[in-house]
Amino acid sequence: MTQHPGKPAGLSDPHELDLFEFARSGRQAAGVVRVSQLPRMLNEVPAEAPERDTAFTWQTEGATQPELQDDGTEGPQPYLRLAIHGAAWLECQRCMTPYSQAFNVDATYRIVNTEAEAEEFPLDEDEVEVIVGSRQFDLIDLIEEELLLSLPLVPKHEVCPEVHESLVSGVAGAEGEGDEAALDEAGEGDEPERPNPFAALESLKRGEPGDKKH
Ligand SMILES: [Zn+2]
Repeated sequence: MTQHPGKPAGLSDPHELDLFEFARSGRQAAGVVRVSQLPRMLNEVPAEAPERDTAFTWQTEGATQPELQDDGTEGPQPYLRLAIHGAAWLECQRCMTPYSQAFNVDATYRIVNTEAEAEEFPLDEDEVEVIVGSRQFDLIDLIEEELLLSLPLVPKHEVCPEVHESLVSGVAGAEGEGDEAALDEAGEGDEPERPNPFAALESLKRGEPGDKKH
């Protein structure tokens, strides 16, 4: 075993991840996915966008947490945490021009074995989603799913540019406002109080360089 904690490697194939093994051994991985690899996201990007093929960085970490099973004993329940950051160009529904929308996803999933088990799972546990695990789990598909769920109901500029000149002179801040809105939405649910099995991911995220401007 020559794993280096804090230096998550890319996955050999993020489309075929053994999710159970990943969680059980508490592995971490990180990578970059481009909009061109996400056909359903690409559909949302207007043809006249300045850049259609923007990139998202993602980090993921597996963990287990002892939980009471149906038979009354405690067993390790697999979990996955996934964070995604980046931006994509969408069409503003107010002025019908493209704008850059920031995406900041931080999701925790309880991994179950079957669809039936997923449906049974009580939804009272806020902040935790349920996914059906697999030995060939498509992580990129999950990333695309999360991005689609994070799409604004009505995509629009914070403030629409009125005239072309304002685009040229008022560039500063325009992008930051989008970030703020996205953060508000993501920050509403506070972190759960129970011990966080994903402390390593937290430090990983802190170590990451800030949003890169293109
Ligand atoms: Zn607009």
